Amino acid sequence: MSELRAVAVTGGKGGAGKSTVAVNLAALLADIGYKVLLVDADVDNPNDHIYLGMERRKAGDIVIKTPVIDQNLCDGCLECVRICPTHALLGRKGSIPLFFEDSCLGCSLCAEICPKKAIKDGKKEIGTLYDGESDRIRIISAAIKPGEARSPLVAYSLVKFFRQIDKNQFDRIIIDTCPGVANPVMQALRLAEHALIVTEPTPLGLNTMKLSFKAMEKLGMSFDIVINRANVPSGVTKIIEEEAAKRGIKVFRIPYDEAVIEAAVQGVPAVKRNERMKQAFLEIVREVFSID
Ligand code: SF4
Ligand code: SF4
Repeated sequence: MSELRAVAVTGGKGGAGKSTVAVNLAALLADIGYKVLLVDADVDNPNDHIYLGMERRKAGDIVIKTPVIDQNLCDGCLECVRICPTHALLGRKGSIPLFFEDSCLGCSLCAEICPKKAIKDGKKEIGTLYDGESDRIRIISAAIKPGEARSPLVAYSLVKFFRQIDKNQFDRIIIDTCPGVANPVMQALRLAEHALIVTEPTPLGLNTMKLSFKAMEKLGMSFDIVINRANVPSGVTKIIEEEAAKRGIKVFRIPYDEAVIEAAVQGVPAVKRNERMKQAFLEIVREVFSID
């Protein structure tokens, strides 16, 4: 495999250990001397900075335009209803359309098409962008506002933020995606050259891992598997290994160790506290990032 710079850490199931893998890889690469950009794209739960003991600062609000209809100008022609791609506007001919905000993408098509110029741009804040830096790690993230459902738009804002950054400053890039295979995950995966699918040796872990396989196939992306808590006795480990062997995929194993939890609580990555964890992550760093 040629030298990889941008690797996504993903997985079909929340709580499988994605963030543990992402932050420990970032910390280990930084310790070795590499400059790392960590993209915490888990927009519902962007906590990687906490596990790394890093501060983050607000880098901007994520705001979308929403339509505000002037009832005095609107004649109920329904042109806006017709063009809205998400059915966020609905109505009957001759009446003022109803607006369903949660479905709105903020595309402004309705305002552009309105023949009466009855639609003005309102604003809706749906999330926040963050940025943080330590010696060798820069972390960027986006957090969706509580109660807000439009995570694809929040993920898209983070992708735009990522694109503005000069990636030449960094030796390696790690992207920690949301769990699952929905739109925000696919957006984050597209930033990477390769992925690590993190799973755990349980029946649910196995099933969600297979969903992640399908996402990889859809994107035409290469990937390896990381079994988290691999030393917990389970017949599923063998099945995961057989699935990997069928596809010629590498399998890495991260042991369960209470040091991971203790370290996370203290904001210290486990690789800095525990030799067994360090060796497990060193194997991934060597094999995936081609670093000796
Ligand atoms: S396009 Fe303009 S005038 Fe027509 S229904 Fe929509 S807001 Fe009213
Ligand atoms: S901004 Fe776009 S998505 Fe929102 S209501 Fe208008 S046309 Fe629909």
